[in-house]
Amino acid sequence: MAKISINLQKGTVEKEKTKGEVIVGIDLGTTNSLVAYINTEGFPVTVKDSDGKNALVPSVIWFNGEQTVVGTAAKDKLIEEPHNTIFSVKRLMGKSYNDIRDYQGFFSYTVIDNDTDERLVKVRVGDKFYNPIELSSKILFELKLRAEAALGMEIQKAVITVPAYFNDAQRQATRDAGRLAGLDVLRIVNEPTAASLAYGIGLNKDEVKTIAVFDLGGGTFDISILRIDNGIFEVLSTHGDTFLGGDDFDRAIMQYWMTQNVIDPQLLQENRALAQDLRLRAEAAKKTLSFQDTYTDKLNNYTLKLSRNEFDVLAEPLVQRTLDSCAAAMRDARIPLEDIDEVVMVGGSTRIPLVKESVDKFFGRAVDDSINPDEVVALGAAVQADILAGNQKDILLLDVTPLSLGIETVGGLMDVIIPRNSKIPIKAGRQYTTSVDGQIKLKVAAYQGERDLVADNRKLGEFVLKGIPPMPAGLPKIEIHFLLNADGILKVRAKELRSGVEQTVEMRSPYGIPEEEMGKMLLESIQNAKTDMKIRALIEARTEAGQVLQATEKFLKQNVEIFSKEEVEGVLAQAKGLQEAIDGEDKDLIHNCMEALNEYARPLAERAMDKTISEAMKGKMI
Ligand code: AMP
Repeated sequence: MAKISINLQKGTVEKEKTKGEVIVGIDLGTTNSLVAYINTEGFPVTVKDSDGKNALVPSVIWFNGEQTVVGTAAKDKLIEEPHNTIFSVKRLMGKSYNDIRDYQGFFSYTVIDNDTDERLVKVRVGDKFYNPIELSSKILFELKLRAEAALGMEIQKAVITVPAYFNDAQRQATRDAGRLAGLDVLRIVNEPTAASLAYGIGLNKDEVKTIAVFDLGGGTFDISILRIDNGIFEVLSTHGDTFLGGDDFDRAIMQYWMTQNVIDPQLLQENRALAQDLRLRAEAAKKTLSFQDTYTDKLNNYTLKLSRNEFDVLAEPLVQRTLDSCAAAMRDARIPLEDIDEVVMVGGSTRIPLVKESVDKFFGRAVDDSINPDEVVALGAAVQADILAGNQKDILLLDVTPLSLGIETVGGLMDVIIPRNSKIPIKAGRQYTTSVDGQIKLKVAAYQGERDLVADNRKLGEFVLKGIPPMPAGLPKIEIHFLLNADGILKVRAKELRSGVEQTVEMRSPYGIPEEEMGKMLLESIQNAKTDMKIRALIEARTEAGQVLQATEKFLKQNVEIFSKEEVEGVLAQAKGLQEAIDGEDKDLIHNCMEALNEYARPLAERAMDKTISEAMKGKMI
């Protein structure tokens, strides 16, 4: 194994020359993807295209009949062949059709559901269908080929990055895409974690730091707050907007030119090629204004002009939205701004001066932007790959789960096993039992969410634990065990401890949770907390009362000969009252009736007990 020492300040790696295996790091992006590795000099580098300039591979796939083309050539087909040219696949990973229905118009190609219960999305191209995993695998395969060409060796292993908020299904889908591309995916790593690693943050074992990773790309925005403590990376919080990025700045410039009557909006409606040209000029203007004060160009007969000041006015509301997210992330992380030690910039749009200045001001410190913001995640993934290759043993990556995980219990209640914001990897378990005599199987249904009723949460999957030996209700000891691994993938194990019967199932969320929805779910859980608590209390009272009634029935049957007719009728009358209370909505009434039944039955129970004891004693010596 090669020995590596990493220069902590710059995040560069010095390595003894090695001919060993190379594990690549891949940034599988919404707009662009990149692959990187640690070169023989020990530095993380990205794989460039054949002319050695550009490392960015547009995440676009063009279907040319049976053939597929990935990258810049595919991107060029976006206007010409919108139905055969697939972009933004990352937005579809692990998603159901319901999840994307509202922004269906965003895609110029056909997105439909896959006709299964899970209703996962698939994309129609011509008369063929592709799921997001297959589509992503084509991008990954292209990156694999590029790395193999650059390195002159076969590449089999990779680390792939995903946004910190990706859920189990989305991480699993990314892993599957890698596998389909012929890659052994050793680790799924959070993008902000990779960005930190590229800056060398966290590579020093004794380091304790809190950092903010601000990632503004072409179409999405994420802010993550990480704590790094002795080589352990922990995501304290994430926030963002899945529809906010460089494209919005371009659109704002186009709108401005239209309102300034530089160009006739009607004409743009009719002439799509002209509209596309104008969009490209708007992007060029934005990029120019990152290092110049004015932009001037001609498009046909139109003169296009924009100054930095004008652009700043257009950009301000968009930048403000990113700052609002930063404030939300800081609130969630429950730390003051002064605790942030470093702010790392990721994504091409962080080159916009107003973005940099505003983020500087917000966090009260100069941001870290010395590494190319387009490449920083891939470079960090390469550093992580190197750690996995065994060269940096002391580093462990740790994240948190964004939503609580639990199972359905009697009455449709959610019983949380792993609470939200738990650090992962994590193992947690709890014991349950049966509610019916002789029960030989038990349904285990896992959910994700914060609400008290599982119906309001998201189902991750279910299975039936079979072969429990028949026992009276309450006797079996069934341990439900959740294991959430470092990739955020959940394994659920159910084991009946008396008999040893067990089953383990890897859960996949049939529906990915878009970030906005995650926020919505959390908000709803807060808004409904009072009602949820009431419903939970009512259901719990009903369940307990139901068990009391069952026990009462059993008790009467077993002891019928020692009670008088009046006594039996008395118990039945109390039981009837309790049943009526169960059918109602008043939990206090249920408790009162349970109490009354218990009070009434207590002397009878004592008598029954005395009888049992005296029978047991008969003929026995003490
Ligand atoms: P990414 O998704 O991280 O590759 O980000 C791409 C986005 O960064 C696109 O919207 C680009 O227009 C934008 N971008 C790239 N270079 C610059 C620049 N110099 N100034 C402003 N935006 C840029």
